[in-house]
Amino acid sequence: MTNKTIVTRFAPSPTGFMHIGNLRTALYAYLLSKSQGGKFLLRIEDTDQVRLVEGATDVIIKTLEMTGMDYDEGPIVGGDHGPYIQSERLPIYKEYAQKLVESGHAYYCFCTSERLESLKDENGIGGYDNHCRDLSKEEIEENLAKGIPYVIRQKMPLSGATSYVDHVYGEVSIDNAELRDQIMIKADGYPTYNFCHVVDDYLMGVTHVVRGNEYLTSTPKYCLLYDAFGWERPEYVHLPLLMGKDAEGNISKLSKRHGAVSFQDLVDKGYLPEAIINYIALLGWSPKETNEEFFSLDDLKKVFSMEGLSKSPAVFDYEKLRWFNSEYIKKMSDEDYEEKAMPILAELCPDYVNTKKLGALLHTRIAAFSDIRDQIGFVIERLPMKDDLYTNKKNKTTPEICKVILEETLPVLEEIDNWCNDVLFEKLKAFAENTERKAGAVMWAIRVAVARQGITPGGATELMEVFGKCESIARIKLAIEEL
Ligand code: GLU
Repeated sequence: MTNKTIVTRFAPSPTGFMHIGNLRTALYAYLLSKSQGGKFLLRIEDTDQVRLVEGATDVIIKTLEMTGMDYDEGPIVGGDHGPYIQSERLPIYKEYAQKLVESGHAYYCFCTSERLESLKDENGIGGYDNHCRDLSKEEIEENLAKGIPYVIRQKMPLSGATSYVDHVYGEVSIDNAELRDQIMIKADGYPTYNFCHVVDDYLMGVTHVVRGNEYLTSTPKYCLLYDAFGWERPEYVHLPLLMGKDAEGNISKLSKRHGAVSFQDLVDKGYLPEAIINYIALLGWSPKETNEEFFSLDDLKKVFSMEGLSKSPAVFDYEKLRWFNSEYIKKMSDEDYEEKAMPILAELCPDYVNTKKLGALLHTRIAAFSDIRDQIGFVIERLPMKDDLYTNKKNKTTPEICKVILEETLPVLEEIDNWCNDVLFEKLKAFAENTERKAGAVMWAIRVAVARQGITPGGATELMEVFGKCESIARIKLAIEEL
């Protein structure tokens, strides 16, 4: 690695939501520079006007903000190399394309779209035949004077090979004869990605280009542009695809059919940005000197290095993300946890429910905030009772025994004013002792009667505190009637 300051960039096209794969690219670009005290830039690549989606740039900016990936230069924050939105840089690309025309590395092409169409085979595939590559100066001037529309094409070498060494994939080499004279500036004056990102990376001082491996084999063309300008090439770090696994176990590029694939969808499902970042950091990278799995963004900045990047495609595993998320939720302070959980509980629960207590019971029992809804169905409504729930071997309970327990505890419960877990527990324990019953049996009967389901977050007295006196007693009475 060189000694100069590392500058990386995230250069998304604002064509929709923030795909998890893009977020991972941003993260690695961010970490590569931040692990070395470098700079991280955000550049919006919006020159493909057809694919633009309104609001997509805001989503990108908001996502970086929510994940804590601050960029040193970019839209909104500005910087010395702006503007950072490509559609605001059109004159720059024209100027640089012109330079290459003048130096003989690019040329005007006046071919009509009909002519280019005619070069295609029956499958619609066809290259360019370099028709305008060697037009005379006079022909060019005549065409320009006539106002014939033109594009500017990059003049590729016709022989030899171009290669570079990628940090992840090693040497990549391509025969120049395979390279087409690609378009740099389109007829409408807009540049192509292939051209303008190179100009921008150079002008913005980018030292390391971190991006998806779909650009691995087109990078020789970009290297030729650097060479044509006489600029030092950046270093390249191409990342393997992020894959998803479907129900049949087939693996393919992570897409919607695998589940939520955008950052916002995951957040909406109740995943925490910190957990998402932690998990995706490990999808294609592993720390060298530790087996630790938990990393905050700050931790990652300390331990990240390119050597830990892998070229084998990583598979996004929703279960693993859930596990990370549950661990992050457990570690949340009560305050932070309540800030997220309470609005959900308040919306779903009837008024009499002690949502604070219910929230506390769920704190260690959910893997995502969306689980809350699934876990509290029994609180929201009185579920149909199944009598066999009363049967428990360990406590030696049966529906009949439970009925007696419920009938006998009812007056004890009705007398309690200070309706809270501790008091309820003490009274029921005393009741069990006085009636020579196992406390477990008493608790079992009551828990089933109030919850009306087998597995519950919390025991009998905790649930009674959640329900409050009125609803608890009502549920016990109902249970006695049904038995
Ligand atoms: N705008 C390109 C994309 O979103 C960026 C590729 C690059 O990082 O150079 O795929």
